[in-house]
Amino acid sequence: MYGSIEAGGTKFVCAVGNNKFDILEKETIFTEEPNTTLKKVFDFFDCYNKVESIGVGSFGPIDIKKDSSTYGYIKNTPKPLWQNFNFLEPLRKRYNIPVGWTTDVNIAALGEATAGAGKNMNNVLYITIGTGVGGGAIINGKILEGFGHPEMGHIKVHPHSLDNFTSICPYHSNCLEGLASGPTLEEREGKNREDIKVNDSVWDFIAYYLAQAIYNYTMVLSPNIIILGGGVMNNAHLLPKIKEELLKIIDNYIKIPPLDDYLVTPKLKNNAGIIGGLILAEKQQQNNKF
Ligand code: ZN
Repeated sequence: MYGSIEAGGTKFVCAVGNNKFDILEKETIFTEEPNTTLKKVFDFFDCYNKVESIGVGSFGPIDIKKDSSTYGYIKNTPKPLWQNFNFLEPLRKRYNIPVGWTTDVNIAALGEATAGAGKNMNNVLYITIGTGVGGGAIINGKILEGFGHPEMGHIKVHPHSLDNFTSICPYHSNCLEGLASGPTLEEREGKNREDIKVNDSVWDFIAYYLAQAIYNYTMVLSPNIIILGGGVMNNAHLLPKIKEELLKIIDNYIKIPPLDDYLVTPKLKNNAGIIGGLILAEKQQQNNKF
């Protein structure tokens, strides 16, 4: 039995699953201050003494560098109580089993690449567009990491000529997250996302920025498929707009796979992350064996 934690800024999802990555039990916990949240995570996993390893995908930025003194920490997140919080250590101490550690978007990417829309493909990119924007790539079954994890939500995009909106990212002017995340929709329109009409021009801006980002990822990574998840993508009318914009930007420079196969939504729906966590748990357990 494997354990999985999808640790988000607003909610944590904890689950246990079997070695086929079927979810057996799942619980959602509201993200509070770290120790209260972690106690609830413990309350869940304490009920399952057959869990052999756990995979954690956390909101970030996080330290994934194994030889770093702060490996397993959440770093300079905008959530002050979670800044420099050692997430991994308490889990390892309590259960004394292997714990895999990566970002929340990376486990969703791993889930989709292994058991979802990117199954049997060797280069899979997953982008989430929600409260934040982020991306994870799985290359030949491995999570793409280097000195740290990619920060694909913070690439620079070219502002739309009719868009007067100022980036809400505290670090960057004109980064993708600052111009196209879920909260930008609400800030631009002054109303709830659900109340924004399908024909509102704000969607053109969002599609314009996402298409630019997808173009850049395409040029750099040449993925076989790009999976677009997160709450903003629940607006089904957005995907065709992104496709249209992407074709304009590519302008026949290269031949990409058929667009309906290339840009898709997650096959595992909202379970991509939690299933990815189970897969990460298995990988971590196998790494510990050798
Ligand atoms: Zn930014």
